Amino acid sequence: MDDINLNNHAVYAGSFDPITIGHRDIIRRAASMFDFVTVVVGHHPTKKGLFSVDERVEFIKNAVADIPSVDVLTTDGLIVDLCNKIGARFLIRGLRSESDFAYEMQMAAVNREIAPNIETVFLLASRDTMFLSSSVVRELASMRHCVDDLVTPMVADALIKRYAHE
Ligand code: ADP
Repeated sequence: MDDINLNNHAVYAGSFDPITIGHRDIIRRAASMFDFVTVVVGHHPTKKGLFSVDERVEFIKNAVADIPSVDVLTTDGLIVDLCNKIGARFLIRGLRSESDFAYEMQMAAVNREIAPNIETVFLLASRDTMFLSSSVVRELASMRHCVDDLVTPMVADALIKRYAHE
């Protein structure tokens, strides 16, 4: 029998501005498939989000506090470079729609070109969260619409405070 591959560490990367219950669903499901999942907040120095990278990390840590096999990192570089640095061989992506699929196919193909050792794994969005994105949450919250069912209590509070001053 071939050697069993013990490298069962996955990365789940995104902007998470902010984390939604859709992201959390993917993290939970990935954590049940892999020994360890590192959530990576990818950011670009010139692109300012609604929340700072530190805030996004805090929200994610709070959302996954009950899952021991998950940690959170940040990078302003290539995700596959970070995967290689920390020894993760799997890259998790969530798929909500055909438009996600078109974009994700291209990303996965590029990543395979530059890092053939990293395998991209797609998880289909759950029915309850397939409509949900961080931008939908930001849009609703900016209109003072309740987003309690879409994000964690910590994120819901932060959104209320953020938009209270506008
Ligand atoms: P968003 O598109 O919400 O701004 P990110 O850039 O943070 O999210 O996305 C990170 C990854 O999570 C992507 O693979 C994206 O397709 C996936 N994802 C985002 N929201 C959901 C959801 N509601 N269900 C499943 N996957 C999702």
